[in-house]
Order: sequence, then C-alpha cells, then structure tokens
Amino acid sequence: MTVTVRFAPSPTGRLHVGNIRTALFNWLFARKQGGRFLLRLDDTDLARSTAEFAQGIEEDLRWIGLEWDEFARQSDRLEHYDRVVEELKASGRLYPAYDTPEELELKRKRQRAQGRPPVYDRTALKLSEDERAALEAEGRKPHWRFKLEERVVVWDDLVRGTQEIDAASLSDPVLVREDGSYLYTLPSVVDDVDFEITDVIRGEDHVANTAAQIQIFEALGETPPRFGHHNLLVGADGEALSKRLGSLSIQGLREDGLEPAAVASYATLIGSAEAVAPYESLDALAEVFSLARISRAPARFDPAELRNLNATLLHGLTYKDVEERLQALGVSGGKPFWKTVRGNIGVLAEAAEWWRIVSEPIDPEIADEALCATAAKLLPDEPWDEDVLGEWLDAVKKETGAKGKALFMPIRLALTGRDHGPELKPLLMLIGKERAAARLNGERA
Ligand code: GLU
Repeated sequence: MTVTVRFAPSPTGRLHVGNIRTALFNWLFARKQGGRFLLRLDDTDLARSTAEFAQGIEEDLRWIGLEWDEFARQSDRLEHYDRVVEELKASGRLYPAYDTPEELELKRKRQRAQGRPPVYDRTALKLSEDERAALEAEGRKPHWRFKLEERVVVWDDLVRGTQEIDAASLSDPVLVREDGSYLYTLPSVVDDVDFEITDVIRGEDHVANTAAQIQIFEALGETPPRFGHHNLLVGADGEALSKRLGSLSIQGLREDGLEPAAVASYATLIGSAEAVAPYESLDALAEVFSLARISRAPARFDPAELRNLNATLLHGLTYKDVEERLQALGVSGGKPFWKTVRGNIGVLAEAAEWWRIVSEPIDPEIADEALCATAAKLLPDEPWDEDVLGEWLDAVKKETGAKGKALFMPIRLALTGRDHGPELKPLLMLIGKERAAARLNGERA
C-alpha cells in the first residue's frame, strides 16, 4: 500500500512553527518513501473556521515549499460522517447524553475531591426510556458519546515505541455536539479510512485521542493506521510556547525576512538527535530526517538560534542562488558585491542596505579627522585589488602611527557610517576611489 499521510490543520488561525513541524514531518516521511501527502482542512468548527485562515495556511505551506498531492475539506464531507454516525448508533456504540456542562463540571470536582480520575461516569447509559423522554420534553438536546471498551489499547508508535493506554481511564469521547456539529475525533477517523491514510503523524498532545480513535476504527471494522506522536515545542527557557505562538507564526517569520529553507531546517531538526544545520532544499532535509531520531524531550525553539541558522544559510548561497531576488531588491552589484556582503547579513534584505551604502550618498562618520585626511590623500589610483589596498593601509599606518582598531575603525566609520560590516578591502573596491576619498574627507558622497 502506498504510504499516505495527511496534515490536518484547523483553519481557525495561521500556522505557527509548531504546526509547520507536523506538516514537515508528514511531508518528509512521505517523500522518503515515495508516498503521498494530503492537505486536509479540519473545519468542522464552522464558527471559528474562516476562508482567510484556510487561504493563509495554503500560502504558508507553499512558502515553506510543501505541495500536496490531494486536498480535502471536512465541511464538504458531512454526509459521510452522518452515515457513520447512524452506523455507530445502530451498533450501540454511540449513545445520547444529556448532562449539562455544569453537571459535568460538578461531577469532575467531586471525583477529584475523592482522589478519583475525572472520568465520565456514564450516567446517560443508565437512563430509562421514560427518563430520556422526560429530558427531551424539558427541551434538552443530547450530545453523543462513543462507548469505549474498557481494555488496554496498544500500538507501536513510530516515534515513542510501544504505547499502552487503558481505555478505562478515559471518558467516553463526545463525537457529536448538542447542535449536531462534529468534534474533530470522528471525522478524522472517517477521513483517514476514506483517504487510505497509512500513517498518522501528529503532536503528542493527541496520544490519548489515539487510544479512543483506534477503538473507533475497530468499531467500524477498519484496521487503524500506524501512528507517530512527535514532541512539542517549548521556548528557549523551557516554558510551553502555546501562549506566545502568535509571534511565531510562519507569516511573521516570513515578514521578518527569514528564508523558508532556514525555517524548514530549524523546525525539522530541533528536538531531534540530528545536528541543527541549514539544508537548502527539502529533499536534502529528507535525506537526514527520520521519525525515529525525534527526541522524547520537548523541542526548544530559540528565535536567536533560528536567526543564526538563517545567516549561515545565506553565507552558503551562491550569487546564482540569489541573483533574481537581489535584483528585485534593487541590488545590482553582481557577484563581487554578493561575495563581499553575504557573510555579514542576517536576512537577505540587509544586502540592500549594504548596496545603498556602496552605491548611494551617505553621511560619513569622522572619528579621527587627521587619520581620515591622510588616508584620503594616500588613496592610490584605480584599478584596485587586495594587494594595492593592502599597501595603502600599510602606508596610512606608517604615516599616522595608528594600528589595529585605531587604524581600521575610523576608516570604516568614514567609508560606511557603521562600526561593523564586511571586510574593508572588497568593500572599498565596490565604493570606488572618488566616493571613498570624499567620504574620508568628511563629505556626503
Ligand atoms: N485538526 C487536528 C489538529 O490540528 C488534527 C490532528 C490530527 O492530525 O489528527 O490538532
């Protein structure tokens, strides 16, 4: 059977780094095995799902380089779920429950006070026909619960190894709400069956769901897929990221100018036994990726580390790799310019700032007037190369007696207006004699 995976976000927000990890894990897993990747929008929560978020999710996936072989939307498939609901009702596995949220909360409180786990007590199953009719007459509408078999559910997790969950420790999951709408649990199983999903790869916050869902597959006479539950993200300080995830949206990272390949590499490799390094393509990443190498400990997300990785990635790109994008940024310095600045930028847009510095007038910063004037006076005629400029610096050193930082810093400040940046000599070649001399003399040029 062809390996078939799915990424199943709910379009109730934009994707963040945590979601993109799940998407990447699925995509890379399929890629390695010549499998298929389905994008499924879990939009049964009609009140919170929007077309804009759905579109945003597709945009974010494409930006990172993930294409899908097939697409599905749960809101298009409601009749399939309805059919399965009838089947489960008929077999007695789906039962109506009338407990109100307040009643349920009170029960849980009492159970906790008695030191018992807050598991649903199945009151609804004990109702007689008359009692049920009386509740309905009162205007109460049922929600529908799946009756779990009280046995241990075992599966061989692709990430965590053998998992055993005693279903007796779980509440019968609600599959259908009072208003007839679906929670995610059942539609997911129906879709996994219909789309012949072979492997479900998702966050470990779904481990308990898996025990219930395996029982649903079996109640429908289906063989459950394989499951793999990956670790979740925490911040650099070890704190859960959930509340701050907004700032880690893929859209936000894109707007910050990060490279999709850096984000993909970082998201894939943190929290694994593999070294975090930049891979220029998803295919290269697929070579090193393995579900079995994902750690059990949480994955630490450190924005500074991601930025460094982005810089490392840029450093390794050839002019050809970035030519078009540089042109779009208005940078026309060609290969020499790219080679000069690529080691000194955190994001590609910073190359445009350096291009402005070498090609447009700037106000120089004169920290040592005498030294700069001498440097201007001694500038050799062009054409320049590293040797010619080396001799020039030696001459300035000799005439002023300045060396090291006291020599280089005033020159750098005068030429660029900044106290750090690419190497001076190649930078000077890009600036040219006329402009360099003027700047060293303190003129805007
Ligand atoms: N919509 C679910 C979620 O985003 C999908 C979980 C799953 O992969 O089954 O959590």
